[in-house]
Amino acid sequence: MKLLTVGKKVLKTLNEAGYEAYFVGGMVRDQLLGRSIYDVDITTSATPNVVMSLFEKTIATGLAHGTVTVMMDQFPVEVTTFRVETGYSDYRHPNEIHFTSSLAEDLKRRDFTINAIAQDSEGYLHDPMNGLVDLKSRCLKCVGDSTKRFTEDPLRILRGIRFVSKLGFNLDQKTLEGMKQVNSLIENISKERVKKELEGVIQGDFRQDAMSYLYDIGLLNYLPGLSTLSSYQGYNFNLLTHPILLFTLASLSLEELNSYLMSWPFSREERKCISVLSQAIANKTPMPYFLYQYKEEWAQLYHELICFLNQKQIHYKTYMLPIQSRKDLAINVKTITTLIDRPKGRWIQQLVEMIEYEIVMNQLVNEKSAIIEFIKAYEQGVKDEKKE
Ligand code: ATP
Ligand code: MG
Repeated sequence: MKLLTVGKKVLKTLNEAGYEAYFVGGMVRDQLLGRSIYDVDITTSATPNVVMSLFEKTIATGLAHGTVTVMMDQFPVEVTTFRVETGYSDYRHPNEIHFTSSLAEDLKRRDFTINAIAQDSEGYLHDPMNGLVDLKSRCLKCVGDSTKRFTEDPLRILRGIRFVSKLGFNLDQKTLEGMKQVNSLIENISKERVKKELEGVIQGDFRQDAMSYLYDIGLLNYLPGLSTLSSYQGYNFNLLTHPILLFTLASLSLEELNSYLMSWPFSREERKCISVLSQAIANKTPMPYFLYQYKEEWAQLYHELICFLNQKQIHYKTYMLPIQSRKDLAINVKTITTLIDRPKGRWIQQLVEMIEYEIVMNQLVNEKSAIIEFIKAYEQGVKDEKKE
């Protein structure tokens, strides 16, 4: 809540100087969703020079784009002048931006409708792009024509998938189609930015849905080494908790690890980690020896990777069990009770569990005659025990 108070102070100063100013973007969105906020973005009619003159401590973070960071009570608040963008010949930076006095125009240049809601100092919402409707129906929709918006800046595709992963929203159909149409343009985006967004994708609570969308869009085929991830379609990505594991997973089926490692801006530590993990998987290094060789943190990652890779195997093993549940037994519980002349009691449950165990462990065939033989032998054993 401290952030909110600090943000309101900045709004107030701008308003008192005669300028329009609103909270905007992720902060408004996350608050409406009842989520915590981590940063404050403000959009204003004041130009960057004016913003810098109104506050004691400012940092000219991105003057060319109209962004000034105001330091208020030691918190950074990003203040950006209303702006319009035109032409994106490099798929990332607008050829030209110009400032405007219209909030509506500024909101129009934003990526998704849920990110284009502005809130004034009184708490009133300004929502010309109808972001609230999409927020309520949990739908991620582009502002304007999706193909055009993703062509302008293909990073928006990955931002969108990251929002799906973080918020658990569905993709609007046209937005999804736009993503599919221009997926290859992601090649033009710096790998630093792509890596950062992908890390966000794999860390969201809804990463399973996000990964399904990523596969559907076909975007991974345009990123170095990541097309190999297609073999993990349908796997449970919730088992992976660390972003490095997505990149490690991709490395497992690559013949040329070095060129892959050099094609992404990994830190030295990340490179080492990926190499160590992929070698350990290839060599089937036993966990105790891995622990002996490397630190516990990497052993945890190794463990997650093994669980992830084994999940299909486990699914297959479940499928191959001689029985899936009690109702698959070739004998019913009632028949068992008629075979043994004893009052009903806990022994029935114990005996059935014993039969299930023997069948699942392949020590007893799931056939009525075999099970009856087993029950007779069991009963004989009980009687002999009593005699002794
Ligand atoms: P989060 O902080 O959770 O990543 P956010 O929506 O605040 O989400 P930021 O990157 O902080 O994302 O951007 C703030 C706002 O600026 C966005 O909500 C959106 O309105 C706008 N924005 C950011 N990046 C883009 C982009 N590439 N294209 C269009 N608008 C953008
Ligand atoms: Mg933000």
